[in-house]
Amino acid sequence: MIVAERKTIPELMDMLQGHKRILVLGCGTCVTVCLAGGEREVGIIASALRIAGRLKGLDFKVDELTIERQCDNIFIEKAAEAIGKADAVLSLGCGAGVQAIAERFINKPVYAGLNTKFLGMLEERGMWTEKCAACGTCVLHEYGGICPVTRCAKHMLNGPCGGSREDRCEVRPDRPCAWQLIYQRLNATGQLNKIKSIKLPKDWNTSLNGGPRVIIREDHRI
Ligand code: SF4
Ligand code: SF4
Repeated sequence: MIVAERKTIPELMDMLQGHKRILVLGCGTCVTVCLAGGEREVGIIASALRIAGRLKGLDFKVDELTIERQCDNIFIEKAAEAIGKADAVLSLGCGAGVQAIAERFINKPVYAGLNTKFLGMLEERGMWTEKCAACGTCVLHEYGGICPVTRCAKHMLNGPCGGSREDRCEVRPDRPCAWQLIYQRLNATGQLNKIKSIKLPKDWNTSLNGGPRVIIREDHRI
């Protein structure tokens, strides 16, 4: 899922200055699960903005709404009435959600209330870790299901950098060396032969560096 973090209230106040009626718009999918932008966080942020506004003597109204998904036009329509009443939207969706709202309501200022971080998973209560950078050409099958692009601090594709100590990463000693994990996993599954061949550099043409990516599924267009 997409993992994001909330911006601070002073950052949001700075962003929203000059607006009289703000809609704090949550998203009920990924950012709800990572406790950044769901209904609960909409309530928390809206209350904090009201208090901050009162303390600064500002006269603004804060409305609240959460829709199921901000990155899907079907659900965006459910927010149309509330967005129509507001003079600015503070979106608590991921970067895709914020842009989808801005594209649909072209005359409405739309602000990002979150910092979108990565594709990841819940590791333990309250802790999410990055698992995928959406590089566009997945090579997990070559590495026992452990991604060297995201989980190795130096993105090493052909074995460890040589700096790891006691199975810890040289750059992030709080994390295991990804190559230690790759080796253990390939060993456990009888696939160590996979690291005997030299891997070519990844084709970053399929990554974010190549500009906005589009996927068209013809079977969904019928
Ligand atoms: S190889 Fe690319 S697509 Fe596959 S998990 Fe790693 S970053 Fe994600
Ligand atoms: S110690 Fe391991 S995980 Fe860290 S940068 Fe080197 S190879 Fe990558």
